[in-house]
Amino acid sequence: LGVPQVEALQHADVAAVLPRPSGESDKYRRGVVGVVAGSDRYPGAAVLAVSGAIRGGAGAVRYVGGGAAAVLARHPETLVSTGSPHAAGRVQAWVVGPGLGDSAAARAAVAEVLAADVPVLVDADGLRLMDRDAVLARSAPTVLTPHAGEAAALLGRPREAVEASRLDAVRALCAAYGATVLLKGSTTLVASPASEAPVRVNPTGTAWLATAGSGDILSGLAGSLLAASLLPVEAASVAAYLHGLAARLTPSPLTALDVAESLPSAWANTL
Ligand code: AMP
Ligand code: MG
Repeated sequence: LGVPQVEALQHADVAAVLPRPSGESDKYRRGVVGVVAGSDRYPGAAVLAVSGAIRGGAGAVRYVGGGAAAVLARHPETLVSTGSPHAAGRVQAWVVGPGLGDSAAARAAVAEVLAADVPVLVDADGLRLMDRDAVLARSAPTVLTPHAGEAAALLGRPREAVEASRLDAVRALCAAYGATVLLKGSTTLVASPASEAPVRVNPTGTAWLATAGSGDILSGLAGSLLAASLLPVEAASVAAYLHGLAARLTPSPLTALDVAESLPSAWANTL
């Protein structure tokens, strides 16, 4: 009653929660984010998700998956491992899904991450591989970051129906999965499972972001903010804001990696 359905995300909302390292910070306290992404077929998605995570301000990134060589070539600071996520070591948040493919091992990795008691962001192939009951059973927060096609598959609706009523779609996904949902597209919407809260609309996007891999940067970035202890709705909306701003600060036609490299400028413009 009297509560608006949507609200535009404001610069001040973002500046208020943007993590800033303090004198007492060390890399563990700043947040360690785990990334489960990439496969033999899609090693690049691993690089992009890790780039988003490290440029998202994490103290460290742990990477698990088949893209370790490509990840290390671009980001030698990454702590890489192969095998299952639990062998990677302690993290404060997980990002799972970009470029994972659909192998049995990928499915098992998604299930294992969802069983963890830290925040988990699920994107891309992870959205197809996850089990809804496993998401509903989680004790820690879950963030889902579908584009319209992925949202349509999760809801069992045609893609056109999602495009025609994006506000309804993002709210329906929140309710069905008990998760914070970031619905990507020309305007990005963020909704939290506290259903009375207005849906947040990100104002910073640019159509130049409609390029391969840009979503993988966003998921790493949002995961990094979750690891820094932002609330799920804050991590998702701040990530969308910085991602769009970084793209606007990048000469275009941009690449996904360019967006990650512009994140420091976006950050400086937001503080
Ligand atoms: P993905 O589909 O996972 O690669 O993610 C694409 C990213 O680009 C998301 O952050 C979208 O919100 C963004 N994006 C795609 N198309 C547009 C558009 N026309 N205008 C603004 N942002 C867009
Ligand atoms: Mg994507």
